[in-house]
Order: sequence, then structure tokens, then C-alpha cells
Amino acid sequence: MGEKKCPHCGQWSVWTTDINDICEHCGKPLGGRDLEYKEQRDRDTQANEEQWIFYIKETDSEFVKGMKKVGNFFYTIYLAIITFLAWVIAALPG
Ligand SMILES: [Zn+2]
Repeated sequence: MGEKKCPHCGQWSVWTTDINDICEHCGKPLGGRDLEYKEQRDRDTQANEEQWIFYIKETDSEFVKGMKKVGNFFYTIYLAIITFLAWVIAALPG
């Protein structure tokens, strides 16, 4: 356990190397830029997932959820076939 200078108030606060640690002086997260970067990355990852056509949302009806699961299933098979074909083509002589 060490100390880290708070990026918000400039005071030294207890730092357990956890990016979510809170400054004991001003109550703001000590992670600073690292934390912002991590949150940005999490948001990007989530945005990418939500753009995926078969992404299952909490608000989807049971029917839509079922369709998306089927869609994901066939997409997985499709990928497997493509991978297999690519392997066959690569393995073909000349
Ligand atoms: Zn602070």
C-alpha cells in the first residue's frame, strides 16, 4: 500500500493501486487519467457490442431474444465454415 497524489486536489492520499480508489481529501477518484482511459475503453467496448446486430438487450422481447440467439448460433457456424474453407484453400496444393 502506498500513496498517490490526487489529480484533483493535489493532496497525497492512500492508494491501494486500485484504479477506483477515492481521494480521502476531496472524495474524487484517484485513478485520474488512467481511470478516464479505462472508462473510455469500457464505453467503446460496450458501444461496439451494442452495435452488433444480434446483441441481446434487456428491453428486447422474449421473441427477439430468441431470434438473436438463433442468429448468433448461425453466425458462429458461418464463421466456422469460413474458417474451414480458408483452411482447405490454404491446404490445397499449388
Ligand atoms: Zn483529492
